[in-house]
Amino acid sequence: MPCEVKPRFLVLYGSQKGQAQSIAEGIAEEAEEKGLVADIYCLSEGGKFNLEKESAPVVFVVSTTGDGDPPDTALKFVKNIKKKTLPSDHYSHLCYALIALGDTNYANFCNCGKTIDGRLQELGAKHFYATGHADDGVGLELVLDPWLEGLWEAIIGALAKMATPQPERDGHVRDLRVSLNETPESSATDVKLHLMSLKESEPPNSDSLRTAAESESTKTEPKSASLNVTEAASETGSAVTDVRPVSLPSNNRTAPKLDSVVTDPKSVLETQSGAPSAVVEASLTRSLPPLSESVLNVPALPPPYLDVTLQEATIEEETSAPVSKETLHEVPISRAVQLTRDDSDKTALLIELDISAHPMAYQPGDSLDVLCPNRASEVGELLQRLCLQDQRSHRVQLSLRKDTKKKAAHLPSYIPENSTLTYMLTWSLELRTVPKKAFLRSLVECTGDSGERRRLQELCSKQGSADYNLYVRDPSLGLLDLLRAFPACQPPLSLLIEHLPKLQPRPYSATSSSMRHPGRLHFVFNVIEFPACTWRPTGRRGLCTGWLSDLVDPILLHPRKAQPSSTPALPKVHVSLRENCSFRLPSDLSKPLLMIGPGTGVAPFIGFLQQREKEREENPEAKFGETWLFFGCRHRDRDFLFREELHGFVGNGTLTHLKVCFSRDTPMGTETETGPRYVQHNLLLYAKDITNLLLQENGYLYVCGDAKNMAKDVNETLIKMVSAELQLDQLDAMKRLAGLREEKRYLQDIWC
Ligand code: FAD
Repeated sequence: MPCEVKPRFLVLYGSQKGQAQSIAEGIAEEAEEKGLVADIYCLSEGGKFNLEKESAPVVFVVSTTGDGDPPDTALKFVKNIKKKTLPSDHYSHLCYALIALGDTNYANFCNCGKTIDGRLQELGAKHFYATGHADDGVGLELVLDPWLEGLWEAIIGALAKMATPQPERDGHVRDLRVSLNETPESSATDVKLHLMSLKESEPPNSDSLRTAAESESTKTEPKSASLNVTEAASETGSAVTDVRPVSLPSNNRTAPKLDSVVTDPKSVLETQSGAPSAVVEASLTRSLPPLSESVLNVPALPPPYLDVTLQEATIEEETSAPVSKETLHEVPISRAVQLTRDDSDKTALLIELDISAHPMAYQPGDSLDVLCPNRASEVGELLQRLCLQDQRSHRVQLSLRKDTKKKAAHLPSYIPENSTLTYMLTWSLELRTVPKKAFLRSLVECTGDSGERRRLQELCSKQGSADYNLYVRDPSLGLLDLLRAFPACQPPLSLLIEHLPKLQPRPYSATSSSMRHPGRLHFVFNVIEFPACTWRPTGRRGLCTGWLSDLVDPILLHPRKAQPSSTPALPKVHVSLRENCSFRLPSDLSKPLLMIGPGTGVAPFIGFLQQREKEREENPEAKFGETWLFFGCRHRDRDFLFREELHGFVGNGTLTHLKVCFSRDTPMGTETETGPRYVQHNLLLYAKDITNLLLQENGYLYVCGDAKNMAKDVNETLIKMVSAELQLDQLDAMKRLAGLREEKRYLQDIWC
């Protein structure tokens, strides 16, 4: 028998939070099903792959972090390929495809992917498939899913182009040149690049999908009689599972209590005569036609890869503090102040940390990572649901399943060895994360209820994308919310560990200067409120902000709260410093500063101004540039953060111009009639000064705060202003602003 040589390609990923990695792993796993071999490496594992000599197609999966930065794991790779000494044909032998992950809520969308892509092109590499830019702001799957679907045909085309005859193997790619002959149009440059039109593409037509899938499904044996699940190969060659609808059991047919009468014709069930007979709403647990009648394309089942054993512990382990303390500082909270009035819509708190005993030299503009635990009540509910309350103090022992089909499977490094079950659920896993479709796909296998299975399949299917967004993603449902909604679903602990990401620390911008407050670091935040919804009967607060708010309650300074008679013990938090080397005051003191920071976005500017105030005291002779601050909040009397301090800066000349607007105190109407409501309206009023300071006097513009609305509105306003002042069309005005970004004179510190 001839020795079997499978065609090989390379998958490289650069991941910050694991998303790019799991997509890359998915590609590698699917490769196996297609009779291909994928070597998969993180971009940081430079010693394990060699692009200079690579002769197989390469697939890059790269995310972007911060303000368009490469993930930590891709930093070195990006630096290396950017070297100016590399000749323009350095990668002329390389054929690659690239999917960039990003979030359009941030300015430099998919910047890392674009940088790698652009540089590879400059160095002579060729695309064998169009680059995809997937947007986490609207759902990665909108671009990612079709990109992945088309990838296989493209890889096979690219392999065929590069291939020498391959030995025959069973049922898979037999002779790659044959597949090239079958698709003579497949070439590195003209492989079907259907992705370019993804944005404009129509939603899938369920009827045509059903017809195609039904005819396909007749070719294969059903795997599950009750659900009629069939494995099929789609036209593009990607493995999909087609699922035909089943009758929902009566408990799932009962609509949850209706909150309102539905008038949307799409969600009204009609009688045969066409007249509306009953009003039934779709929900997390129930679907309506056409989805409920569609044959579904569900993703392949992610292969399980972890074995978990729970061992009785001999010693009780502390669960109140994180184990990994190398980069963490446990610091006392020396003061906490409520900055907003009780009748304000949002509650903003200022926290002062005593960092005097810790080597944490920070600059205004830096942020601080705060590590917070999952709520004990949620950990308890989860343990109960998993029927593991009695093992809560057992030690978790993880090992890789010997028979796993998962490529490059490895133990999660963020779960400390021998931690107890409670510790792991408290400090290691993000319990509230919105479950990804792959997780929902795995949950299908954990319920015996056919109605639940069907609905979970719908939610992870291509056809159910809109429902997934509406009922899972938009209300930020977490695992517990889902388990409440699907009571028969009983996932094993190993599945949770495989799918829940690492519990991330939450960053907060430093709101102080150590020149003014030596040994202290301040930060300020709004306590996030999530409203109640059907599967979350009571509202809840953000994980970290809710926890911090409870933690500081005993010491909270509040205008209407009596001070405690005895001094309570100071609470402590685990933090680490997160430097931001670009969001800094310019070293040239004479440069003008324009700061835009409504709400808690004012945080870093308080630090800037405290530093500037000190510098002015210490350098009375120096020439200081003008300073402008644009601040906005809802009500002058309720949530004007740092009002006294800001007026103090104006009084002593540190702040030249303070421009404030109050969105809810200003009557409705256009801003020309009523005055400015939001910071961008105020910017327009001072357009001449701003463009002059920025473009003629080489000033620095800083924007901080909400990424979803404010930062975008401000950016659009700046485009308008530059365009009007310089008589440029919109594109040239955008280029001008892009130039400022490159010069690091238009800087953002924004968050969702
Ligand atoms: P989580 O439980 O993690 O929930 C937050 C998530 O819920 C977000 O994705 C948000 O989009 C979403 N969300 C928020 N409200 C709702 C709602 N009503 N319904 C549905 N979804 C909702 N924050 C500050 O307040 N001050 C700062 O100075 C600050 N600096 C930052 C600096 C950087 C570099 C970054 C990246 C972020 C910063 N943030 C700041 C944001 C902060 O890190 C946290 O994201 C925020 O405090 C929420 O944390 P949480 O754990 O309480 O919320």
